[in-house]
Amino acid sequence: MKGGRKTPLDRLIELERLSGVDFLPLSKSALKNSAPAAKPVPPRIVAPKQTPAKSPSEPLPPEFAKFRSEVLECRKCGLCETRTQVVFGVGTLKAPVVFVGEAPGADEDEQGEPFVGRAGQLLTRSLLKIGVKREQVYIANILKCRPPENRTPRPEEMAACVPYLREQLKWIDPKAICAMGNIAVQGLLGTTMGISRLRGKYHDYQGRKLFATFHPAYVLRNMGQVALFEADLRTVCGDSGIAVR
Ligand code: URA
Ligand code: SF4
Repeated sequence: MKGGRKTPLDRLIELERLSGVDFLPLSKSALKNSAPAAKPVPPRIVAPKQTPAKSPSEPLPPEFAKFRSEVLECRKCGLCETRTQVVFGVGTLKAPVVFVGEAPGADEDEQGEPFVGRAGQLLTRSLLKIGVKREQVYIANILKCRPPENRTPRPEEMAACVPYLREQLKWIDPKAICAMGNIAVQGLLGTTMGISRLRGKYHDYQGRKLFATFHPAYVLRNMGQVALFEADLRTVCGDSGIAVR
């Protein structure tokens, strides 16, 4: 350090070293303009964009935990090549209702949790409005990996992935499934009928009650439908024994 005068950068480096940090990810030009470093600065290791998924808040039965860790490694379809991480699903195994969407988007792919982006925040808010917390239910998708550019899931991807959802349903054994949007509803029911005719009603999915409603991303673009969406959430949660308002 020339003449003992410390630049703000020198002071920062000193402070970081005092707190046990032995390298800082500085650019070469920043280093040139400051005092020579005492030690060579190792190349910066680029941090992955991925935020590891939150671990489940309740202890999982060992067999379910094993199943979950297998799914987190899944390579059954091509989406394993482009995903950041598998988005397994979140919530309690005691959930009276399992919400099912389409597939992870960019935010979900990054955070490892379903419905955390803009559409997810709408779902979370709408649930709260009727007095239900995310932790009281289970949230998953038809696909556990993000399709590139959020394109529509392909039939072969759905065929590869839906058995995992079925296994989750077996463990949870909810009072009802709430399928949100055309892909979830049509994918599970095997129908081509549109959501506007199917929503607000119960259908049968392999002996389970499947309630159909809009996808929250659709509601985001059509806020005129938010009251209907919330009424649907109140119906499926209330009917399943969750206290709603
Ligand atoms: N849309 C979905 O269908 N699922 C998510 O998890 C997020 C957005
Ligand atoms: Fe496996 Fe499903 Fe991901 Fe395809 S989308 S790789 S089947 S977890």
